[in-house]
Amino acid sequence: MHDKTLTELAAALAAGEFSSRELTESLLGRIERLDGELNSFITVTADQALSAADAADAARAKGDAGPLTGLPLALKDIFCTQGVRTSCGSKMLDTFVSPYDATVVEKLAAAGTISLGKTNMDEFAMGSSNENSFYGPVKNPWDLSAVPGGSSGGSAAAVAAGLVPAALGTDTGGSIRQPAAFCGITGLKPTYGRVSRYGMVAYASSLDQAGPMARSAEDCALLLGTIAGHDLRDSTSVARGVPDYRDELEASLSGLKIGLPKEYFGDGLDPEVETAVRDAIKVYESMGASIREVSLPHTDLAIPAYYVIAPAEASSNLSRYDGVRFGHRCENPADLIDLYKRSRAEGFGEEVKRRILIGTHTLSEGFFDAYYKKAQQVRRLIRQDFLDAFEDVDVLMGPASPTPAFDLGAKKDPVSMYLQDIYTIAINLAGIPGISVPAGFVGNRPVGLQILGPHFAEQQLLNVAHQFQQATDWHRRQPAFGKENA
Ligand code: GLN
Repeated sequence: MHDKTLTELAAALAAGEFSSRELTESLLGRIERLDGELNSFITVTADQALSAADAADAARAKGDAGPLTGLPLALKDIFCTQGVRTSCGSKMLDTFVSPYDATVVEKLAAAGTISLGKTNMDEFAMGSSNENSFYGPVKNPWDLSAVPGGSSGGSAAAVAAGLVPAALGTDTGGSIRQPAAFCGITGLKPTYGRVSRYGMVAYASSLDQAGPMARSAEDCALLLGTIAGHDLRDSTSVARGVPDYRDELEASLSGLKIGLPKEYFGDGLDPEVETAVRDAIKVYESMGASIREVSLPHTDLAIPAYYVIAPAEASSNLSRYDGVRFGHRCENPADLIDLYKRSRAEGFGEEVKRRILIGTHTLSEGFFDAYYKKAQQVRRLIRQDFLDAFEDVDVLMGPASPTPAFDLGAKKDPVSMYLQDIYTIAINLAGIPGISVPAGFVGNRPVGLQILGPHFAEQQLLNVAHQFQQATDWHRRQPAFGKENA
């Protein structure tokens, strides 16, 4: 059961091949056997999952099942879940039990899905390797000495290892696409505003967006249709109809115009990653797509602009963790200032503190114009680069990451970690959607092909990704780790 896609599992449940309870029990058993080694879950909600599975089976027996009824999945531990710890990978929220559900959690539950638990992540979604989690690093199921990527590394590793068929992640600067690439799964970052952020712990509010991580583009289409849509509780969510994202999956790609940004194939790109990506692009050519080189001239400014804007927003968002209202509180504070200082010093990890310091500095009087305002101006230029490129081509393609998954512990210097995000970060600054699909390997470590489209072009991205998955079987490969422990 664990090697099937969500779509296949849905068909098997509908055909009565097994019940949702049997499926849920089988996956909970895998989590129990395998996750001690992987560490992809922070919290497993077995009891709730089994009662939800029974409810799904009962609904099906009454003829009330929808396309997602009874399907298990996992939620990155950044989504508020009523009655269940929502830690955001931080000691600060280690004992925080949310009093309400995030909009996406509510929608997935209403569609009949079953959450098996909350997945591990970099603290407050800050990181590219999952090594910044208070709960310890996650291992990459393809190679246990490698990172799974971050910050949604737990979600990616859990799907890749066959612990769940799908999971939700969030992407502020690549946190869905890069771990999807590192773990050989499919991950979609929707257009900013396509999915409600209500109940998603805020990192950088103008960049954060939730999205699906699964084996196939078809599965991502199914999930996106469920989580997308306007929400009165998130003023940045966009009032725009939600199509059935599966409708266009089979459309022909003949005549598709693909742009290859020359800046995404330059220095720093691992040659074997480049070969895999170029081979993938040849598959599109064979389907009748045309390829041309384009330029995104401000690409080299994306990392500096992002690492000003994201920490600035984070320093403001994270000021709510003051030891008073919720979250970690220090023992025996001498006075209010001592309470603030020690609660925050004890509750936050090193990378989070670094970002708060950077953000507070760049927002402070005297530095605001030089850093924050300048970064916002650069952001506008980066956005314009994409809009210009989409005048000439339908989609852009390139690598999701300059290298395959690196070794655990390999990147001690924060700047070398930030440089990892070169191909993912500009997309968030521009607000456009992007998807990473499995496209080969370097040794035993997966490579992700990234496909980008204009704002609200999710349907086209999913079509383009799905057609590749009809012609290749990279997304079907499974790590030996998951197979041996079947
Ligand atoms: N790696 C980037 C960062 O550390 C992106 C993280 C994310 O998308 N949440 O900020």
